[in-house]
Amino acid sequence: MKVLITGGAGFLGSHLAEAWIDRGHEITVLDPASDLKIRHLRANPRFRAIRESVLNREILEGLVAWSDLVYHLAAVVGVEHYVGDPYQVLTVNINGTQDVLTAAFRHQKKVVFTSTSEVYGRNTAVPFHEDSDRVLGSTTTDRWCYATSKAAGEHFCFAFARMGLRVVVLRYFNVYGPRLDQMDRGRVITIFMGQLLRGEPLTVIGDGVQTRAFAYVEDAVRATVQAGLRPEAEGLAINVGSEEEVSILDLAERMVRISGSASRVIRVPQEAVYARGYEDIPRRVPAVRRMREILGVRADTPLDDGLKRTIEWFKRQ
Ligand code: UDP
Repeated sequence: MKVLITGGAGFLGSHLAEAWIDRGHEITVLDPASDLKIRHLRANPRFRAIRESVLNREILEGLVAWSDLVYHLAAVVGVEHYVGDPYQVLTVNINGTQDVLTAAFRHQKKVVFTSTSEVYGRNTAVPFHEDSDRVLGSTTTDRWCYATSKAAGEHFCFAFARMGLRVVVLRYFNVYGPRLDQMDRGRVITIFMGQLLRGEPLTVIGDGVQTRAFAYVEDAVRATVQAGLRPEAEGLAINVGSEEEVSILDLAERMVRISGSASRVIRVPQEAVYARGYEDIPRRVPAVRRMREILGVRADTPLDDGLKRTIEWFKRQ
């Protein structure tokens, strides 16, 4: 198959490109970002990377026509952007998705759209099922622009599905692993990682009882590959995540223990890490029945194992 991955030079995309290359397919990555995370694939004749934005319609059109399957990962992601550059978040995430779907519809190509657990917002009824309500704050709080942009992308997916497009929506829950960007200030694991490596205290925001379920990237990628292959997934939203719920305080303590670092764990107010306009989510855990039954995948890498592999990777960098 010929597989197009928009945003394929990012964390998840680079692992996805590698997975499809390993399965013997032809991959094109469309991404304006540096190719650092995919440079090891460059020597492969079945791989090519095009350094362009998904908003370049002419190039996008040609690549969609070339492909058999489109993964649309290109998006502006990271809390610092939600509160720092909401215009860019909305433009790339909404208009880019509409453009990809329009091109895919014209050429009748299947699309897998990468959405996010953020769309559930601060709904307190965990675990989140795919048809759970979205509970979002006011539009005057910039933090919600990302969730809103991805939800708009999902609505576009379902609108195109009604017109006959084969499309799958995947909602990822806190995916982590090697190649997460240490400078990506939006993610707790990379922030803690940087602090560990520099011997600084780990900054737990608030009391640290807020929870997440972290999914190891290899598990998330297996689910993503299956979403591209299995017809049963078409027309659906499917959560991709782990059921192992941990508090952020627990996460910090585990990372200190596994890395053998001398760092302490401290509690800081939200403003010490994020700019104003940020609002935390107290609990986030996926319902994973669809992932298990429709995609046939479990995100069952234990957190300690995944953290160990991730910490080792960061230490080697
Ligand atoms: N967090 C933290 N310390 C930090 C960065 C984040 O305690 O230095 C917390 C944050 O408040 C949130 C959780 O870690 O409760 C996960 O944050 P992240 O930004 O990784 O992703 P989210 O799941 O909120 O989208």
